[in-house]
Amino acid sequence: MAHPKEERTLVLIKPDGVQRGLIGEIINRYERTGLKMIALKMLVPDKDMIERHYTVDPEWKRKVGEKSMKSYIANGEEPPFKTPEECGNAVIERLKNYMIVSPVIAMIWQGNKAIGIVRKITGGTEPLTSDVGTIRGDFTIDSYDMSDLDNRAIRNLIHASGSVEEAEKEIKIWFKENEILQYNLVQEKIIYDVNLDSLRE
Ligand code: ATP
Ligand code: MG
Repeated sequence: MAHPKEERTLVLIKPDGVQRGLIGEIINRYERTGLKMIALKMLVPDKDMIERHYTVDPEWKRKVGEKSMKSYIANGEEPPFKTPEECGNAVIERLKNYMIVSPVIAMIWQGNKAIGIVRKITGGTEPLTSDVGTIRGDFTIDSYDMSDLDNRAIRNLIHASGSVEEAEKEIKIWFKENEILQYNLVQEKIIYDVNLDSLRE
C-alpha cells in the first residue's frame, strides 16, 4: 500500500475562478498547507471531457441531485426537480455549458489526506452555505436557488476530487502519466521525516 503522504487529488480552478483573477489566491491556499503540487496545466476543456469527468462515479447524478434537493428541504422550500436523477441530468448539462467557456487550471496536489484537506479548504458546494474562511465561502456568492432559476451550473470556483477512487479516475482524464512530476520538496522533511537528527549543526 502507498504511504499516506502519497495521496493525490485533482483540483480544477473553474472558468469563474480564472475570470475572477483568483488563480494565485487559490493556489496559495493549497500550497501553504504543506501539500505538494505535482502537476499543473491551463486548458479549455471540451464537453466530452466534462461529461467523462463528472460521470467517473456512476452514482454521481443521484448523489448530486440528493444533495441539492436536501438543501431546498432544509430551507423549507419545494425543490424544482421531481427526483434526484432529474436534477442530476440537468446539472450535468449545465456543467457541460459552464466548464468550457474559458480556460481552466488543472492541478494535482499530493500529501497526507490530500483529498480531505483540499475539500476542507475549498468549502461546501453551495457558496451561500460554505463556511467562512473557505475559498467558496470567502470569494463568491452563488446559491442553488439562483442557479436553478437561471438554469445554469452553480459557479463555485473550484472542483476537487471527493474520494481516492474519484481522484485516480479523474487524474487520468486530465493528465498523461509523463505530465505528473515526482520530486522532493525540502519542506516534506519537517512534515514527514521520522528522524530529524540532521536539522541541527
Ligand atoms: P465539485 O465536484 O465541482 O468539486 P462538489 O463535489 O462540491 O463540487 P458536486 O455535488 O460534485 O459538488 O457537484 C458538482 C458541481 O455541479 C458543483 O460544484 C456545481 O458547480 C454543480 N452543481 C451541483 N448541484 C447543482 C445544482 N443543483 N444546480 C446547479 N449546479 C449544480
Ligand atoms: Mg464532486
